[in-house]
Amino acid sequence: GIATPVAVAIDLSDAPRGFGLPRTPGLAESRFASDGQITKSPVRALTLAALAPRPGEHLWDIGAGSGSVSVEWLLAAPGASATAVEPRADRGANIAANARAFGLSPRLRLVEGRAPECLDGLAGPEAVFVGGGGSEELFARLWEILPEGTRLVANAVTLETEALLTTLAARRGGELIRIELSRAEPLGSLRAWQAARPVTQWSVIR
Ligand code: SAH
Repeated sequence: GIATPVAVAIDLSDAPRGFGLPRTPGLAESRFASDGQITKSPVRALTLAALAPRPGEHLWDIGAGSGSVSVEWLLAAPGASATAVEPRADRGANIAANARAFGLSPRLRLVEGRAPECLDGLAGPEAVFVGGGGSEELFARLWEILPEGTRLVANAVTLETEALLTTLAARRGGELIRIELSRAEPLGSLRAWQAARPVTQWSVIR
């Protein structure tokens, strides 16, 4: 016969509110050490969805900034690993601090340098995120060195990088989305929408 469903009441009355870490990507910016150059939480959630981490996979996070995308990649899949590429030493320090704070240091490698120059010799990835340093030269190099089947996701904020991504999408295929988000902010005693800069995101499989 069919088992009778049993309602199990979990007693959370003693647990501190908001304790622990949510399982879903898009953690608040305030959870990360950063200088303000950080992919905003809703954009990061969409970026992780596009990167689609699976157990044991390796990510190249190019233009890693605070390392927030690497951290969420590592949190999302058991045994996943990441290489964060970031030329600025102050941001490298934030990446290391964030990896440590989340207990992820052993799975994150920091490369202090510029892409594409510093990509040679890195362990091959299943997915690549380009959050900074996206140039014609970088994408040309990635196309040469990435194995077929590698997932590539690139975010653009500037018109110049957006133009590059739309050109590349026309040539290589994949999907372009435009993320336009507004947040309600105080305006005097009332509220108004405050628009964030739109982000153009290209996702493609090599
Ligand atoms: N996704 C990051 C924010 C990226 S900001 C986060 O959530 O924290 C873009 C970063 O790209 C900056 O830190 C900048 O220093 C870096 N960058 C610029 N040119 C680069 C290049 N050629 N190679 C690697 N990183 C680069």
